[in-house]
Amino acid sequence: MKVMKFGGTLMGSAAAIQRSAELVLRWAGQEAVVTVVSAMAGVTEALLKLGAQAEAGELEEVTAGWKALRFRHLEAGASLGTQAATLEQIDELLETLRQTLYGIYLLRELSGRSRDLLLSFGERLSAPLMAAALTKAGSRAVALTGGEAGLLTSDHFGHARPLPQTAERLSLQLLPLLAEGSIPVVTGFIGETSSGVITTLGRGGSDYTATLIGAALKADEVWTWKDVDGVMSADPRMVEGAVNLEYLSYGEVMELAHFGAKVLHPLAVTPLQESGIPLRVKSAADPDAAGTLVRAESGPSGPVKAVTSLRQACILTVSGAGMVDAPESLAQIFSLLAQRGISALMISQSSSMANLSLVLRAAEGQPALSLLSERFLRSEWVRDVQLREQVAVVAVVGEGMRGTQGVAAKLFGALAAEGINLLMIAQGSSELNISLAIEAKDEALAVRAAHQAFLSRPDHSSKKAAGSGRLSVSH
Ligand code: ASP
Ligand code: MG
Repeated sequence: MKVMKFGGTLMGSAAAIQRSAELVLRWAGQEAVVTVVSAMAGVTEALLKLGAQAEAGELEEVTAGWKALRFRHLEAGASLGTQAATLEQIDELLETLRQTLYGIYLLRELSGRSRDLLLSFGERLSAPLMAAALTKAGSRAVALTGGEAGLLTSDHFGHARPLPQTAERLSLQLLPLLAEGSIPVVTGFIGETSSGVITTLGRGGSDYTATLIGAALKADEVWTWKDVDGVMSADPRMVEGAVNLEYLSYGEVMELAHFGAKVLHPLAVTPLQESGIPLRVKSAADPDAAGTLVRAESGPSGPVKAVTSLRQACILTVSGAGMVDAPESLAQIFSLLAQRGISALMISQSSSMANLSLVLRAAEGQPALSLLSERFLRSEWVRDVQLREQVAVVAVVGEGMRGTQGVAAKLFGALAAEGINLLMIAQGSSELNISLAIEAKDEALAVRAAHQAFLSRPDHSSKKAAGSGRLSVSH
């Protein structure tokens, strides 16, 4: 049995949904398949925008945006030959969406709870379209919301977490459908509290839905379909010799996910780790290729598997001799940032403890600077808070680095040879990842130099990724 997840791009239009349905059907003839779908490409973003406009009282914009969404879904439905009754259900959902937006407009209030409800329409509208495409091809398909499929969650709106009963409930709902030969099409990303209120698992959460279902149903493999080759050793736009990776360990894929490489939602790895079920990143452009297999073992490779990078970062440095031996200073800095939802991508503290440097997302630099300056500048701990903008982070990832000497030396040497200055360095004690903050202008050069040092095979011709999007790095 397989769980197959289709992201927004593969659900982007009637034609894309049709192709995705064909991928399901290639395998559904021989084995049971559960399908998990994202919203049509761009719809989650559009809903977020509509929510903000409704809250701001911009009714005309909201109406126009809603009409565009309605048109897009109904048109896709019609081109897929969706049965009249299903089209009617889709239109009813769209009407409920309109009312939801109007409610937000009237109240001028968008709570976490109403935002989750609002965002849920993306997946609730796309699942019936995939089911329609499968039905038209002659198979039995049933569209289900995450809640209907058994995904019971906490009420942490925006980042709800599955409750312990979820696994059992998922099997209870889905196994009978599989037994009667149907293909369940489950909305990714959304669940439901025990009182039936819709929740979301966080952006990109459809991956998590897929692996939760995979683990609950003891699938052989979870497949996430992408419109690109499997995961590559670097962004092929930066590195000509980037190659497809055959294997990644759970730990490696998490490192890549944390680095903004949209391989997989980092939380989606947990159910895989707990159940030992492998995941395959499959290319829709080349469905018979094995893709990248994500499993417990890292597989044969050198110390470094992939080089990834993240643009649009900044470094915030807090310093002051008063921080020495005052652990509460760190606690306060982090809790203040946490209260504003600012997360640190990389952290380093000098051993004198007199300064702390944090890599943050570029957009959060100025807010964090004012926040910390206001609060701490005249405190007994902090003498100075500084922000350095135009920073990129480059990371090398691989299980093989663990216990191998000379990896950092080689990396630093390769970058030094290109005249690249390192602003900050971090290696987790898991030794899976070495991250370097550098000036943004050096990003591509650094990625190429690191790839060259560890991964380039000069006698092999470079393998180009199919399709236009790239998996290795995103920003
Ligand atoms: N549609 C949601 C998002 O864009 C969930 C997903 O695509 O996984 O974040
Ligand atoms: Mg999406």
